[in-house]
Amino acid sequence: MKALLATRNKAKLAELGGLFAGGGLELALPEDAGVAMPDVEETGATFLENALLKARALAAAAGGWALADDSGLEVDALGGAPGVRSARYAGPGATDADNVARLLEALGDRSDRSARFRCVLALAGPDGATLTATGTLEGEIARAPAGTFGFGYDPVFLLPDRGLTVAQLPFAEKQRISHRARAAAALLEILPRLTDPR
Ligand code: IMP
Repeated sequence: MKALLATRNKAKLAELGGLFAGGGLELALPEDAGVAMPDVEETGATFLENALLKARALAAAAGGWALADDSGLEVDALGGAPGVRSARYAGPGATDADNVARLLEALGDRSDRSARFRCVLALAGPDGATLTATGTLEGEIARAPAGTFGFGYDPVFLLPDRGLTVAQLPFAEKQRISHRARAAAALLEILPRLTDPR
């Protein structure tokens, strides 16, 4: 089965394309299929709403299947923030370093630093059918950044059982355990429902 990926970001295609390779879902970028990616404002209050907004808009534009993802960081002591605002936590145009600095400042020296990365994937069809799946990666917010791999909040996302931040994990290892990998595996597991809705 083929689906367009609701993004213009080739890095996302590399990551999600790799996760779905061999699983029976072949991904391509809209631009490579001659379809313009619709401009979708991510106005949803949840990752699920935003993922569905993007997947449904592209499925309608393409007249075919579309996959979208939405992801971010939830910190328990901050009531789940930055959540859907993860990319712009420190304001519009914020860099990863700005967002990390704002997060460390917001947490100060609180001892409750539990957090998770969450990814929601939505697959939408031209006839309105949808499948969704979630993946999470549990961890803690470190007191200072460490590591150079990855992006976003990886340098302060500590995996306590390993004593390493996600930015200290090689790419292949992050691909194995990440919230995106877990969401992809969960979606692949329910993919047969599309052809056998029982
Ligand atoms: P998006 O789903 O690509 O729009 O990601 C939203 C934001 O969540 C990113 O800009 C990052 O700040 C954060 N984020 C999502 N996934 C990760 C991850 O794997 N590592 C670090 N930060 C992430």
